[in-house]
Amino acid sequence: MEAIQQKYHELTQGHLDKKNHSYESRVDHLIALRKLILENENMILEALNKDLGKSRFEGVISETLFLVKEIDHTLKKLKKWMKKKRVSTPFLQFPARSYIIPEPIGVVLIISPWNYPFQLLISPLIGALAAGNMAILKPSEVAPNVSSVVARLIPKYLSKSIVSVVEGAVAETQALLDLPFNHIFYTGNSHVGRIVMEKAAKHLCPVTLELGGKSPCFVDKNNDLDLVAKRLLWGKFFNTGQTCVAPDYVLVEEEVRSPLIEAMKAVLKDFYPMGAKESPDYGKVINKRHFLRLESYLSEDEIVIGGERDIESLYFSPTILEASEDSLSMKEEIFGPILPILAVKNFDDALTFINQRAHPLAAYAFSKDNELLNRFREEVTAGGMCLNDSLVHLTNEGLPFGGVGESGMGSYHGKKSFDIFTHYKSVMKRGLLIDLPVRYPPYAAKESLIRRLLNWLG
Ligand code: NAD
Repeated sequence: MEAIQQKYHELTQGHLDKKNHSYESRVDHLIALRKLILENENMILEALNKDLGKSRFEGVISETLFLVKEIDHTLKKLKKWMKKKRVSTPFLQFPARSYIIPEPIGVVLIISPWNYPFQLLISPLIGALAAGNMAILKPSEVAPNVSSVVARLIPKYLSKSIVSVVEGAVAETQALLDLPFNHIFYTGNSHVGRIVMEKAAKHLCPVTLELGGKSPCFVDKNNDLDLVAKRLLWGKFFNTGQTCVAPDYVLVEEEVRSPLIEAMKAVLKDFYPMGAKESPDYGKVINKRHFLRLESYLSEDEIVIGGERDIESLYFSPTILEASEDSLSMKEEIFGPILPILAVKNFDDALTFINQRAHPLAAYAFSKDNELLNRFREEVTAGGMCLNDSLVHLTNEGLPFGGVGESGMGSYHGKKSFDIFTHYKSVMKRGLLIDLPVRYPPYAAKESLIRRLLNWLG
């Protein structure tokens, strides 16, 4: 654990030496990160394939290219984000000027999970570097190939006084959490999220917690079910269902449950003509522990599509269940290729069902009825929402990404990533020529004067 402390001290020194404070140094480091991704894209995609069976296409759009796009957006906006902002000053303080100055917060810790092991580690790093900070990256040990690629590549492109990688599992993460970071950015399950927050409290360290939960999807009877099935199943089975914002379960109006399931059968045939097992576009479950966890959600009599699986190759077919509120699959977040479909009488029942549960990370609704979609938008609280599609709201840098309540705290992407890792310092600079005596003791008779003055100034 001495090595961890050493890395932390090098970064602290880097911060004291202001090695990433200037606009130029931040740009240099972001460009170095961009080069790291593009010059080693094949190696990264291969590691993703080894860990998750992730197809090249999915790896490109959700990991490497996704990050390059984010870096480019950040580089384009950075100068503007870094500008100090002048704000007005109350007349009573005249003469004075007031500013808000964005400044780096210091050394930050980024802990990531295994499902998008590269993107979820590097995306917060973009914000941290853009905001002028130093960072320790803690990749997930559950995706060992990506973890080792990151550990090898980072020192080749970024100095150890700017970014360090600590590989390992619980012991290493706990050792890191004992250090007084200036911010901890954690993505993963809520059990560990609580541990992170507890440890951070010791140092009064602010945290961002990107957690998960059961993201609902409502399907109205007023719909083009073929299109709904296509958009919904793409979001569900992308990355083999191991996506924090994947639709976790579907609430469908009862008269269209069977037609929706029929439409889903046809869609899966189109997606994987030779079957998902033979398809290079369908991945695998991350490991045996998660495979067994997923298996425990199955009741054979509920399976209407799929259910085939093989623990040796970690293949778990796209599986659709005709489920109910009491089903095993409705107890906790699924985080894999199982989709329970529950019938509801109507939209109001769906709203009640959703609102009785913890606020999800994402909520989805499909309908041709705009009024219904507006009600869904107004009456459901979720980290984010996508109407008439799934997942794609994440691709808009203008939309902050994060949870609410049980699904997390804090949000990032685009300017929000910069904000998370920035301290907005308030500064007022007073002039010396005029000095109103009204605020100084003795205070006798000054209260009514100050009241009248403030009233007059509005
Ligand atoms: P994981 O097992 O890789 O754990 C995440 C990180 O926590 C790892 O780096 C791990 O080393 C560390 N860790 C594990 N146990 C620890 C402990 N006891 N003390 C300290 N650190 C510990 O990933 P996971 O938690 O299985 O990830 C899946 C969960 O993450 C799901 O709930 C999913 O919804 C959520 N998730 C959320 C987002 C988001 O952006 N909101 C993204 C992806 C995943």
